[in-house]
Amino acid sequence: MAPKLERFVSPGKGNGLRATGRILKGELVFSAEPLANCVSKKVSRDVCHHCFTRCETLLRCSQCKMARYCNITCQKQAWSVHKTECKCLRSLLPRIPTDSVRLAARLIFALLSPSKSCSEELYTLEEHESHLSCMSEQKKQGLSHLASMLQLYLQQEVPELALETPSALPPVCQDPLSLIAKVTCNCFTISDGELQEIGVGLYPSLSLLNHDCRPNCVMVFEGTKLQLRAVREINPEEELTISYIETLSLTEDRQRQLEEQYHFTCHCQRCGCKDTDGLMVSGEEVSWRPMMESLSRLDELKAESNWQVLLESCKHLLSAASSVVPDENLYKLRVTDAALDACIHLGYWEEALGLGLRTLPVYRQYYPDPHPVHGVQLMRVGKLQHYLEHISEAADTFKQAYQIIKVTHGDTHSLTKDLLMKMEECRAEIDQQSFHNN
Ligand SMILES: [Zn+2]
Ligand SMILES: [Zn+2]
Ligand SMILES: [Zn+2]
Repeated sequence: MAPKLERFVSPGKGNGLRATGRILKGELVFSAEPLANCVSKKVSRDVCHHCFTRCETLLRCSQCKMARYCNITCQKQAWSVHKTECKCLRSLLPRIPTDSVRLAARLIFALLSPSKSCSEELYTLEEHESHLSCMSEQKKQGLSHLASMLQLYLQQEVPELALETPSALPPVCQDPLSLIAKVTCNCFTISDGELQEIGVGLYPSLSLLNHDCRPNCVMVFEGTKLQLRAVREINPEEELTISYIETLSLTEDRQRQLEEQYHFTCHCQRCGCKDTDGLMVSGEEVSWRPMMESLSRLDELKAESNWQVLLESCKHLLSAASSVVPDENLYKLRVTDAALDACIHLGYWEEALGLGLRTLPVYRQYYPDPHPVHGVQLMRVGKLQHYLEHISEAADTFKQAYQIIKVTHGDTHSLTKDLLMKMEECRAEIDQQSFHNN
């Protein structure tokens, strides 16, 4: 483990990680490749299953017809990991197992492969408290279903697991049910530069990180590599925390999600003072309730890429709420963001810019610490301004984005390099303009 962090027993939370010395804001605390990972089923046609890059055209594995790669090089490099999985996938065609089943299987393949010595890394998964006892019956049933899927999936390749007899596998992997429970509790969502989910991965040493609704660290990904960075200065022996969930939500909703997904009650400072709850539901409830109730429908339209209908629904909701619900209202913000997405996909740039600009002061208010979501939103707005030739405004927005991105992503991340290039382009264009004006 890197010298900047060490495991310790966190009061009331079990195992945790803490700083071994002072850590500066923006410092890279830890970076890790996953022990096992897989591309999310919902983007499996758009993302390379080896390097996790989004590509317009991908080569398809001729045998399982599921795995896709940017090129021959990625396909070759992936083969040692994919070859066992490929047989399993083929045996289930046309069904494709869920992400957690495929991830659990990949963990087993990694552990069985002689080239990887991961027993040291795996200790965190083994020792991670099992939450099986405090799970609801419904959740347990869901997991048992996944466990039997896993057994079915692996039958051809890992008969030891299918027969439930002790095997060469580490104890943590011998019981399919507890394996699935551990995988679903310990995996991290891998996201791309736009913060869209592209896969799931297991990074055992970091699964000791505890949650806080206002964390002192954030995780970003470069391909499949996870980078943990400090977003505030951290004192020696201070606990390192991340947020397991979207922090921009009401205390009640965060707590419910943490209980349902991670089986604990959050006692963080932010949950105690419920700081922004009032602001998030500002305005008359009768006016914002329709927006709250439409959010799942809007998500569906987005998932279907039904942009025209999405935009019309958003516009309808926003015009009904316009003057009586302030921009700070969380549901109004969500609807505005959905409308922004739709406009960008439809190429309505002016309209998109107007919507994006409205969200910025709200993001600033709700993200007191540097946060990737805030940085990426600024970049989107900056790109719209740049495209519409509002060059000096774009330069200013990019500068604000950089203040955040340099902390959350660091100067070597590809997103930061993209941003620096945009800033350079703006500078050159401004110089050219003033040259022509003189
Ligand atoms: Zn690739
Ligand atoms: Zn295949
Ligand atoms: Zn909390």
